Amino acid sequence: MALMKALRKTTANPGLELCEVEVPSIRSDQVLVKIEIAAICGTDLHIYNWDKWSSDRVKTPRTIGHEFAGRIVKLGEDVRHLKEGMLVTAEGHFTCGQCYYCRTGQGHICDDVKILGVDVDGIFAEYAAIDAKNIWLLPEDRDPAIGAIHDPLGNAVHSAYAHCLTGQNVVITGCGPIGLFCVALARHAGARKVFASDINEYRLDLARRLGADYVVNSRNGDLTSLVHKVTGIGADILLEMSGSKEALADGLGALRKGAAASLLGIFSDSVSMDLDAVIFNQLTLYGINGRRVFDTWYQMEAALESGLDVSPVITHRFSFEEYEKGMALMNAGNCGKVLLIP
Ligand SMILES: [Zn+2]
Ligand SMILES: [Zn+2]
Repeated sequence: MALMKALRKTTANPGLELCEVEVPSIRSDQVLVKIEIAAICGTDLHIYNWDKWSSDRVKTPRTIGHEFAGRIVKLGEDVRHLKEGMLVTAEGHFTCGQCYYCRTGQGHICDDVKILGVDVDGIFAEYAAIDAKNIWLLPEDRDPAIGAIHDPLGNAVHSAYAHCLTGQNVVITGCGPIGLFCVALARHAGARKVFASDINEYRLDLARRLGADYVVNSRNGDLTSLVHKVTGIGADILLEMSGSKEALADGLGALRKGAAASLLGIFSDSVSMDLDAVIFNQLTLYGINGRRVFDTWYQMEAALESGLDVSPVITHRFSFEEYEKGMALMNAGNCGKVLLIP
């Protein structure tokens, strides 16, 4: 049996282990992908740190990771529409196909979803077995590093494209990679003014580079009054990417009457909010979960083909052996997207 390197959670404790394991075998409806580039997601960091969510959800041993670009090296016997050698990434949510949501075109909120690198072995490895129906073909000339970040870029597209951004004043709270993607998407869609807030100067700097007109460090700046001062009326759209209750309150306070917000940032505690402001200002709040399969992916491809440039979000690259450095950097927050090369 051929062996490969894989980054695994081997025990129910913080950390990971670089292991030698067997190259996975594939089912008849799967393909084997040779991973060229992987990206570290916030989810991977949660599992690395072994917080409450991950210790409740993840069974060890588990190879983690779900953001990648790679090439197909083997096809399951029932796979007809793909070929060996194709450059691909994948939707990392494997849906059941049977539940009410799957049967009504809403597989992204499937009742029985299995997540790559969480519920099944993931892609922080030299090879991974992926369901053929989840494979997303990349153009041959696509930089594999951009291919590797389609999953989080898709979260941003799903959040941002819930609204028409053209000519609108857009506020983005939280400038982690997905917030930064939102800045680029708003700019690309022809937003009027783009405001971004965070508490990390490194990330605010990236937001500026991606096209934010105004950046606010919420530790010492007042997003709400700045937005009202610049727009005269308040912003049209809020994209909440931080999962911070203070940022949520600032963002909602920055909106004009009749405005709309997408909420993607995950809050670690329950949040109390001023619902009277939502009611009297007639705000519309959209909860955003994952990516619409595959509507969001087609929209993302169209944005990239028409010149969306998110390359500044990728700030660091490490080898698999240096994974601890990547995780430490992400815990510190002075980074955009961090890549791992097998
Ligand atoms: Zn991810
Ligand atoms: Zn389902």
